[in-house]
Amino acid sequence: MTIDFSKLAVEGVQKLNPYQPGKPIDELAREFGLNPADIIKLASNENPLGPSDKALAAIEKELKDLTRYPDGNGFELKKVLSEKLGVTTKQITLGNGSSDILEFIVKTFVDTGDEVVVSQHAFAIYGLVTQMQGGKTIQVPAKNWGHDLPAMVEAITEKTKVIFVTNPNNPTGTWNTKAQLDAFLQAVPDRVLVLLDEAYFEYVDKPDYPNGIDYLAQYPNLVVTRTFSKAYGLASLRVGYGVSSEQLADLMNRVRPPFNVDSLALAAAVACVKDENYVRQSKALNDQGMAQLEAAFDQLNVNWIPSVGNFICFEVPNRAMEVYQGLLSKGVIVRPVANYEMPNFLRVSIGTEQENQRFLLELKDLLAE
Ligand SMILES: *Cc1c(COP(=O)(O)O)cnc(C)c1O
Repeated sequence: MTIDFSKLAVEGVQKLNPYQPGKPIDELAREFGLNPADIIKLASNENPLGPSDKALAAIEKELKDLTRYPDGNGFELKKVLSEKLGVTTKQITLGNGSSDILEFIVKTFVDTGDEVVVSQHAFAIYGLVTQMQGGKTIQVPAKNWGHDLPAMVEAITEKTKVIFVTNPNNPTGTWNTKAQLDAFLQAVPDRVLVLLDEAYFEYVDKPDYPNGIDYLAQYPNLVVTRTFSKAYGLASLRVGYGVSSEQLADLMNRVRPPFNVDSLALAAAVACVKDENYVRQSKALNDQGMAQLEAAFDQLNVNWIPSVGNFICFEVPNRAMEVYQGLLSKGVIVRPVANYEMPNFLRVSIGTEQENQRFLLELKDLLAE
């Protein structure tokens, strides 16, 4: 007799569809018989600059100590972050990517039957971790592709434990203003946790874009997450963090695996926090690339959603999967967003000028077919 272990898995896991990441370069090379060097990946909002020299130097220095466990408290990284952000080290929770923090909050607060409020078109991980925990995801319709914060407040019930707000949101690139966030935080009951995901914070320079850290003193129910995966160029190392009240950080620390961030990631992240220059360069390159893509989409009569992130969604009515596959066959990887209820769109990450150019040429060819 063979046992069907899927029947023994907890209910949330039985029904779970795993997160679909962007296609890795080597996988596409294998599938299409392409040379990896000829493939460009604009599918996971990674930094096209490559890692900073300072991060690489810090990693090299750390290599000889690989036999040791990492500092489970991340003392040095918390110290430089606390100085930069003007918070105490006890307010900081380090994560194996900021996705870790999203999971810690849900694990800490969401029990079977509890509700978690998210926006339509929001980052998929929120729903996945909620389901894993036996919670129920309440999805609130978006407004002009963005979070409708007043409607999200309306969706709160007795059972609501957590609300996720992504600012700016991935994959839409939409964002909420200070005035909108002020009103939202005022309206959310104290007992409901607000997780403000600022994975793309460093790319935004709108004057009325709010900095989540500024709200922490007033809102003990707030957790702000940031990451080294995007503007800091360390996606593969998996390091991010949450900033919250000390009490929430203490609770999250109880569910955090003891060595969740490795020593190379810690060392590289410390070097990156001190290297403002790299982030400035990343942002400048992103601004240029975004302008390049917007102008080209307009020329091609392709509709796009204004984005303040390092990616942009563009519309290919009724042909999104066909164009996605066509781009793949040419060695250009972008991201379908049908699973975000956007079946007519594709998301492209901003690359170097040359990468953007190559993507645009292939897209132009495919659209002319
Ligand atoms: C990329 C991304 C993250 C960060 O993921 P890491 O785990 O830090 O690599 C978090 N939230 C959103 C919305 C993202 O797009």
